Amino acid sequence: MLSWLFPATCELCGENAELTVCPGCMQKLPRIPAPICLHCGAPTAGQQTDPDRCENCAGQPRPFLLARQALRQTDEVMQLIYQFKYHRGIHLARPLAQLLHELWEQTPHLRRHDDWVLVPVPVTQEKLYTRGYNQAGELARQLARLRHLRVMDLLERRDTGIISQTRLTATARRLNAMRAYRCRRPRFWQRRTTYPARLVLVDDVFTTGSTARACATQLRKLPGVKEVAVLCLVRIGA
Ligand SMILES: [Zn+2]
Ligand SMILES: [Zn+2]
Repeated sequence: MLSWLFPATCELCGENAELTVCPGCMQKLPRIPAPICLHCGAPTAGQQTDPDRCENCAGQPRPFLLARQALRQTDEVMQLIYQFKYHRGIHLARPLAQLLHELWEQTPHLRRHDDWVLVPVPVTQEKLYTRGYNQAGELARQLARLRHLRVMDLLERRDTGIISQTRLTATARRLNAMRAYRCRRPRFWQRRTTYPARLVLVDDVFTTGSTARACATQLRKLPGVKEVAVLCLVRIGA
């Protein structure tokens, strides 16, 4: 009824569409081409020593099992993300979650199990207040709907009083991220002795992986958690 009264228009081409990115534009969004690093999802030239891992991941222990990103960074993609995050673009969560759904289908390990629980990367209370929503939370909820999974808000973001991650060097980002995320302390009536074994961390962008590492490190401390995978919309710098 609502969609009949207010037909959606595609954010990219302006045509009327059921969702705010039409199927044609969705098809054209730039996916990450194979071969990729099986660990972090980076596109590789396929010439590194270990064919399954990029030079950055070779021989490095990682707190997450695998990380995958749906799209490459292009101006168009970044504009879409910008709309989604900063311009009340909450309606974009549905079409963007379709991309994560597609990525899931292409990731054998995710398909192998059906007991995954989605965990959004949190934002600070201040951001939540000014923006009105957590973009990662909206993505997780839409993805959960598509895949019939559960979402658990297990993490919280502390306000570390440090300038935005985007302006920091790689080492500073890593330290900042490690301080910024922690597991939510459950209310006493929700206290649990065990957590789901398999978690998928959901976020919009993947830059150096420091947020994913920090969050996965925290989640793996929870009793019962065995595997943490990471799904993000865009890989920055690829
Ligand atoms: Zn379109
Ligand atoms: Zn890698």
